Amino acid sequence: MFSFFHGGVHPDDSKANTRHKQVEYLPPPEFLILPLSMHIGAPCEPCVTLGDDVLLGQVIANSGAPVAAPIHSPVSGRVTAIEPRSHPNGSRVMSIVIQNDGLDKLHPEIAPYGSVESLTPEELLGVVRDAGIVGLGGAAFPAHVKVRSGLGKVTRVIINGCECEPYITSDHRLLLESPEEVLGGLKILMKIFGINKGTIAIEANKRDAIENIRRTLPRRGEGIEVRSLAVRYPQGAEKQLIQAVADREVPPGALPAAVGVAVFNVDTAAAIHRAVTTGMPLLRRIVTVSGSAVSNAKNLSVRIGTPMETVFAATGGFRETPGKVLAGGPMMGIAQFDLTAPVVKSTNALLAFSQREVNASREQTCIRCGKCVQVCPMKLEPTYLYMYERKNRTDMLEKYHLSDCIECGSCAYICPGRLHLVHSVRTGKQKLNAARAAAKEGK
Ligand code: SF4
Ligand code: SF4
Repeated sequence: MFSFFHGGVHPDDSKANTRHKQVEYLPPPEFLILPLSMHIGAPCEPCVTLGDDVLLGQVIANSGAPVAAPIHSPVSGRVTAIEPRSHPNGSRVMSIVIQNDGLDKLHPEIAPYGSVESLTPEELLGVVRDAGIVGLGGAAFPAHVKVRSGLGKVTRVIINGCECEPYITSDHRLLLESPEEVLGGLKILMKIFGINKGTIAIEANKRDAIENIRRTLPRRGEGIEVRSLAVRYPQGAEKQLIQAVADREVPPGALPAAVGVAVFNVDTAAAIHRAVTTGMPLLRRIVTVSGSAVSNAKNLSVRIGTPMETVFAATGGFRETPGKVLAGGPMMGIAQFDLTAPVVKSTNALLAFSQREVNASREQTCIRCGKCVQVCPMKLEPTYLYMYERKNRTDMLEKYHLSDCIECGSCAYICPGRLHLVHSVRTGKQKLNAARAAAKEGK
């Protein structure tokens, strides 16, 4: 059954290059870079010092803050630097650099926790926290915090397999190649929440994935359903997904738990299942590598901390000097200028586009066509957000609900004036946060 949300667009999905390609394993490189901030919340503090030997799966950084997730060593080796390094978000972030000894010597504490049935909900939640799992769909919000904040409120878990961003097929491949991990993760989450209602939501254009996961479903009566959703961007955005699946609208500023729902990406669910059944924390993730400047597009299983240049090299390198490189999809991804930056927990795709494909048009004047307003799934007025950001009118950005923008990029996609609407929204949020902080300090 198809359900709908407000607005949205229909970009070309451009997934043909990788949708049929099995996930390949990328061996870890000689040096891995682990930024201390790979999640929403407080950055971690190193638990290791220069010259320390580390083991695969060992905690190398942690934080006592309530919103944070520990970081583990993805290889065994030696700490060769703790210093600022380039991060995919464009800044320099304090990072731990590990020289890989190539032996993958496992930390002695890494072992299966036991059967899911034998563990209490609190013990399972502890595993999610200790494994450093964050939202792997791109949000990077610590999963244990999301679960704990929803205890007693959530009556339905939705596993998000929509993957509506063009080019990206990592979740699609996971649903095809490891459906039992996704399903296992959902069952663990349902046990933690103490509920018997779970949904795996997949866009209708992934028919093979829908059939595959349906074949893996347990007996009837366990409360798990698979929903086929309309193909429309941003179907996979949290609030839009809840609207489509549960027909509930999350109020502005509220969390999904406010309407009794918690949403987790399929890779997050799989990581939770692996953590419980093998004891392995979050050390790797699937990354789609694609785009017109890439020689041989692939889906790769990559250790976190692997430099982007190593990942691109594993696809045969660039067929030409790219005009643009993105971490993430073309709608929400972040432009990259330093390919020594590593794959972090939230990196679901690396895309490189040829110069001729990059739209180098200069910003033009808004022609007031209103299309951006029609497609905005959050019912915002992007043209006004753009104008007030340019004028530094943070009071008006507040009034026009800038904070509700989910940075989906639908407005920029549809805009005939080719205005940099998403960039303007991101800059506006920084200005708004600065203004709020200044107001708090009484400046
Ligand atoms: S204003 Fe924000 S939420 Fe609305 S379409 Fe643009 S990026 Fe998406
Ligand atoms: S879509 Fe672009 S040109 Fe049209 S009103 Fe919005 S900002 Fe202006």
